[in-house]
Amino acid sequence: MKNECSANAEDNVVTDCAKREISLDHNRRRINYLRLSVTDRCNLRCIYCVPEEGIQFQPHSEILTYEEMLRIVRLCVRSGIRKVRLAGGEPLVRRGILPFIENLCKIEHLQEIAMTTNGVLLKEYARDLRRSGLRCINVSMDTLNSERYRQITRGGSFEQVWEGIEEAEEAGLDPVKINVVAMKGVNDDEVLDFASLTYRKPYHVRFIELMPIGEANARVKGIFVSGDEIFRQIRSLGPVRYVPSGRLDGPASMCALEGARGRIGVIAALSHHFCKTCNRLRLTADGHLRGCLFSDRETDLKTPMREGKDDDHLLDLIENTILKKPKDHGLVLHKQQRKCVRPMNGIGG
Ligand code: SAM
Repeated sequence: MKNECSANAEDNVVTDCAKREISLDHNRRRINYLRLSVTDRCNLRCIYCVPEEGIQFQPHSEILTYEEMLRIVRLCVRSGIRKVRLAGGEPLVRRGILPFIENLCKIEHLQEIAMTTNGVLLKEYARDLRRSGLRCINVSMDTLNSERYRQITRGGSFEQVWEGIEEAEEAGLDPVKINVVAMKGVNDDEVLDFASLTYRKPYHVRFIELMPIGEANARVKGIFVSGDEIFRQIRSLGPVRYVPSGRLDGPASMCALEGARGRIGVIAALSHHFCKTCNRLRLTADGHLRGCLFSDRETDLKTPMREGKDDDHLLDLIENTILKKPKDHGLVLHKQQRKCVRPMNGIGG
């Protein structure tokens, strides 16, 4: 029988009675952040993420129920997870997301719950999300131009998402972060427009390097924009100060323009990969735990859970996945990449 876990009041490191630090992996990284794909369905078809037609969604019976997700999150918290980010697919298209967030908020020792959304339904949901206990939100929006937005998302409405962003701000979701995947010849001429937005709005604009996964796999070589290139452009606007990140933060290098209300982040997953400090696990919508976005090495938690295995069994599987988290993603800039079997919408980004 496994010993009960207890949280260390000083730094919230979870240790079991044998004094084993179970949130550390083989490379002594503290794993405290879980990205959870609540559905593989999405209401947009972004050009770099999913194909326009013919996406194979998982049958509903293969997607974890909210009860199953809550059980896994509780066990992950016992293994050291302190932050959960909901993603997808599009998390707001799954029915019952609000009560699910309320239940997540009740999990002891879970310190932060966040969401990444495309923002299409945000205007409708922002206040309820805040009431459910969500504190901050990331909205993916790759352009400030209405026609371009329609093209990148294959049909989405920029105005609808912008209204959602403003509603989120008014509802008190703080910070509102805007994720921008930078792509040459697609939106790289908008880096300064996005950066300048932080003078007017308290948003955190985060530029993300295009990653060779999903629909981007074949195209990344031609349209890749590096984090260095983005920083170079941002600095042309004036002095920037570096902003240190917190213990549960993701991998963005953050800075702020002098006099700006918001911040700017760059996530250089390829050109300056941050695998050495990666603190993340990912749970797919169909219940597989991954140590790395780019590695198809996964642990199936759904099958044992549905076969009636007890918490100790599942906890062993989770801890083993943490321990064996891949050392790095192994991707090399501008080289042909191996293909991930799972599409991005099933993993959650
Ligand atoms: N539907 C939600 C959304 O749009 O934010 C959540 C899921 S989406 C897969 C999560 C994030 O992954 C989005 O910010 C999206 O831009 C990003 N993403 C998808 N494919 C990507 C790629 N090939 N490279 C970099 N980011 C990607």
